Formats: sequence, structure tokens, C-alpha cells
Amino acid sequence: MKFYLTTPLYYVNDTPHIGHAYTEVAADVLARTERLLGKDVFFLTGTDEHGQKVATAAKALNLKPKELADRMSKRFQKLWERLNISYDRFIRTTEAEHEEMVKKVFHKLYQKGDLYQGTYKGYYCVHCESYILPSHLQENLCPDCGRKVGSLKEPTYFFRLSKYQKDLLSHIDAHLEFIGPPQRRNEVISFIRRGLIDLSFTRRSCEWGIPIEEDFTIYVWFDALLNYLSGVGYLSNSKLFGKYWPPDVQFIGKDIIRFHDIMWPAILFSLSLPLPKKIFAHGWWKIAGEKISKSKGEAISPQDIISEFGVDPFRYFLLREIPFGADGEYSYAAFVKRYNSDLANDLGNLLHRTLTLIDNSFDGKIPKSSGSSGERLKEKSLSLAGILPQIEALKYSEVLSKIWEVVAVANKYLDEKSPWRLSQREAGPALYNVLETLRIVALSLKPFLPASSSKIAEGLGIGEEFKKENFKKIQWGVLPEGRKIKRERPIFPRKK
Ligand SMILES: [Zn+2]
Repeated sequence: MKFYLTTPLYYVNDTPHIGHAYTEVAADVLARTERLLGKDVFFLTGTDEHGQKVATAAKALNLKPKELADRMSKRFQKLWERLNISYDRFIRTTEAEHEEMVKKVFHKLYQKGDLYQGTYKGYYCVHCESYILPSHLQENLCPDCGRKVGSLKEPTYFFRLSKYQKDLLSHIDAHLEFIGPPQRRNEVISFIRRGLIDLSFTRRSCEWGIPIEEDFTIYVWFDALLNYLSGVGYLSNSKLFGKYWPPDVQFIGKDIIRFHDIMWPAILFSLSLPLPKKIFAHGWWKIAGEKISKSKGEAISPQDIISEFGVDPFRYFLLREIPFGADGEYSYAAFVKRYNSDLANDLGNLLHRTLTLIDNSFDGKIPKSSGSSGERLKEKSLSLAGILPQIEALKYSEVLSKIWEVVAVANKYLDEKSPWRLSQREAGPALYNVLETLRIVALSLKPFLPASSSKIAEGLGIGEEFKKENFKKIQWGVLPEGRKIKRERPIFPRKK
């Protein structure tokens, strides 16, 4: 079975910040999960490199737009590498293959009669590069970014978005899963009901874009959205395209829902292509109540956080701190608190003290399991077999808290049993139960904290077997007795 998932393309006039990392990590967890289940996954991500904002930003730095795009695209790629993002393709909208496809699609829509020439006259937000209806203005400001809007009059090619209003509504109506979370679905429905107007798909005023005719470049959003098609070989590699289309999940931020939940499916209707199965919008990370963004001057560098805490703690914090879909507040204090309590104390310490006990009393070998009384621990650990549907429903925070409930029960069990006070015969099975719980916890953490879960498995002496395992078969009593464990320094050293 195939599984195709995408992130939005990140715009190269911005530096990579927590918000970008969030989307990327969230998509990576799902990609890893589906691969563990044996699916043939295609995970697409990349950078959006055209548009007036890029041209303007480049000019300010005395660079050509392409030079700025090269530089910024590399920064995103470097961060994804560091964050252990398992994408299959990183696409750039300045790639010739993509540009060619965009032109072909433009002509297809024109031939179908879904593009026509006209004159645009009205409000325009330079920041969002979008036209805005007077009725959509919010207190005279852009409804998407809250900035002042300008006015514009120029000849253009319009896309007949209005033609697809009914089709869109009935598709959304018939497919509950199509737009998530439900709150966003309701927003989109009410937006469509207010009436869709045709959209301008070309620009005269912007020279940094895909040229379509003399004086015209293609509207950057139309160009960017089409990456989801060119990324899997639409009109160039029919084998690849036939295999992966349509997307199973598309991750987006809630600020770009109208482009993805309205414009994008309408384009697909026009091309007579099947629609994505699910488009899910996550919330925003805020600092002191404000959305994190370069333009608001509050960018916190993910690279700095990773340097201080490590990759997996950063992945953990992003997914655990807030339910996926809601907004959340980032602060250094909140990060340290969660790191120390969940990672250093609860999980890291459980592993470390158990391995230390085994090193000291059992010659570093996994003790015998027989005669143990760990029914509650066993039952709790085996309950993690149920996390899969929750991961697929993108309930990441809930899944992680469920895993940590198991960690808490194991800590309590270890305290109550106090194997250091028991005879070897009694201590052995108790320690075995804790090790077995740690193995199942590590298995459940595979897609979330890939490096740390392998480290735990290596500590348990099962590094090799563990690579092939997945949570489809969560069983109790798998650890081989007598296997040599490997005690290392704590995997999450406590921070002051
Ligand atoms: Zn705007």
C-alpha cells in the first residue's frame, strides 16, 4: 500500500523557525509510522522560491532572487537533516521540471475554459500576495496577516473558482476527513458559503516568477500549490504519479487554509484529478501571545534549541506540549520544565537506574522473567498496542501522554518493589518486567524519537532485533534472558 504525504513549501524570504520545524516534525512522525507499518511512503517537502517578497528581500541584500533562494533553501535542508526528517523528496519551485509542469497546467486550465482574460481592480495584500474582497477585509486590514492592504489595477488571467463552489461544498460535505481539525472545516464551509469569486492567476507587477506570456508571470500561490503534483511526476513520470496520487495527508498551517482547502481542490477539479484524502491544519506557536515569525522579529532558532537540548527533546516538546491542531505558547522555561520532568526524570532515569541495578547485581545480564508479579505493568504496557489509530488521527500529544503513563507506572512499580532490597531470585523478575516495559515504550516512541528509541534498545542489548520491529506486534516477554545489557550515561542528562 502507498502513502503520500506533504508539508507546505516554506517560503524562502523567511528563516527557518519553530513553526516550520513543527510542521516538518509532525509530518515526519506520520511518515515513519506508515513506513513501520510496511507502507510504501512518499514524503514530499521543499521550498517556495518565487514571488515579489523574495525579489524584494534579495534586493535588500544585494543578491539575485535565485541566489537568495539557493541560500535559504539550503538552510531549510540543513535543519531538516539535523532534525532527522525522513523526507523522500525536497522540491524547489525554481527547478526546471516544476516550472515546465506549471506552464503545462496553466495551458490545460486555459484550454478547458477555466482561465480567462480580464482586469483585476481592487484590494491587494503585498505580504500575502493575495487579492482581497472588500467584504473579506477585517477592520480594513488583510484577513490573513492583519496588515494594511493596498489597491491594484492590472490585466490578468482569472481562474473560474466560482464555477467550483458547489462541487467544493458537496465534496466537503461528503468527506468528513477531508478538512481537519473540525473547527477549520467549519471556517472553510462558511467562507465558501459567502460566495467564491474568480481568482487572478497571473501578475504583471512581479518579475520574479514563472513567465507565461510577455509581461505576465504566474501567481506565486498557483505555482507553489502545484508542487504537490510536480513532486510526484505529474505530466512527466506517469508511473510515479500513478503510484502515489492522491495525497493521503497534507499538513498545513492554519494561516494557509484558504489556499489549500479552496483554491487547491478547485484546481484539481479543473484538472479532473482525485482530491487529497486529508488536509490537516495545525495551530501556531506563540511567544508571549504573538505568532512566531521573522517579520515579527521573534524568531527563535531551532538550531540553538537543538544544540542545547538535542534533537529528540526538541521533537518531543513540539509534539507533546500542545494538542496537534491547537495553538501553543513557547517559552524556554516551559521547555526546560518538560525536558527535566518527562525526559530526564521519568524516562531517562527509569532506564538508567534499571540498567545500573542489573549491572551491579546481575553481572550486566538480563535476569530471568519467571515468577514475577507484574500484571498491572504488563497490562499497561500492552495497552500501547492501541496507539496506532491515534497516531494516524494525528493525536500526537495524547499518544505521548499515554506512553508516559506507562513510564509512570513502571517508576512506581520499581519504587514499590525496591529490588535493591530483595534477594536475587525475587529481584530478577521485577527488573525483567521493568526492562520489558522499557522495550515496549521504546517501540512506541520509534516514530517520535527515532534516535532515542534506538539508544534505549541498545541499552537493553537488543539494538539489532529492534530495527525490524514495529508496534503492530506489541507483545510481552520478548527480551532474551541472559542477554548483555549496555549501561551508558543517562540519555537525557538533567538541566539546571
Ligand atoms: Zn496579508
